[in-house]
Amino acid sequence: MSTFIVLLGPPGAGKGTQAEILAEKTKLAHVSSGDLFRENIKNQTELGRIAKSFMDKGELVPDDVTIKMIKDRLVRPDCETGAILDGFPRTPAQADAFEVILTELKGRVDLVPYITASEEVLVARTGGRWTCRAHGHIYNQTYNPPKQSGVCDFDGSELYQRDDDKEEMVRHRIRVYLKQTMPLVEYYRKAGRIIEIDGMQAKEKVTAIVLDALKNSGSRRDFSAEM
Ligand code: ADP
Ligand code: ADP
Repeated sequence: MSTFIVLLGPPGAGKGTQAEILAEKTKLAHVSSGDLFRENIKNQTELGRIAKSFMDKGELVPDDVTIKMIKDRLVRPDCETGAILDGFPRTPAQADAFEVILTELKGRVDLVPYITASEEVLVARTGGRWTCRAHGHIYNQTYNPPKQSGVCDFDGSELYQRDDDKEEMVRHRIRVYLKQTMPLVEYYRKAGRIIEIDGMQAKEKVTAIVLDALKNSGSRRDFSAEM
């Protein structure tokens, strides 16, 4: 049975940051729907062209396009033991489709860390977010600066600010999140998988809470040796 961790939370809550750290600690693959869309835009694929028209408006990319992209990603060999999902599912229809995919992959959702923060913190964090061009590593000019300004610590690539991180767009994305993604909190709460975490704590504290919850989640995989 493979292990899937689904990170839920508004834009700027810290999903990507936690996914990076958790992937390293658990050796599970990091699957970010936003990164996959941005990669397709960079490579000028047809999928990227479709995704861009929605991302530029701060709207969600249609479910059918998103589900197909994620399915193609999850059947790759590095997801054989499971994955940390960052940004998917984001609608009830995506969550239902994910259940079907999980049955095919013989996987299950072990834990859903639901990371929260106030709107002002979300706006401040996304306003200072810098992202690495090559692999999507995440920085913040105030809270988590790179060693050298504008350069990724890990791969030396250029850091850039996302177009959709402008304040008005972030406020709109938060509204979209509240309307379309919040129902998933109830969905996974009913399934007994949610653990709610105050994302305004230091990132190390958030990671520690997730890892602790994972050990107690009844996951079929024993992570104790790896952490
Ligand atoms: P999300 O994937 O949920 O949109 P990110 O992980 O990209 O969020 O984080 C948004 C911004 O906030 C980034 O600039 C990141 O460096 C910063 N950040 C993430 N977690 C914390 C934290 N616990 N404390 C302060 N800043 C954080
Ligand atoms: P954040 O990390 O700030 O939450 P993401 O990188 O996850 O932002 O997403 C950026 C944009 O990519 C979203 O505003 C949306 O347009 C698109 N996107 C990402 N994931 C999904 C998804 N699961 N369903 C539909 N659209 C998505």
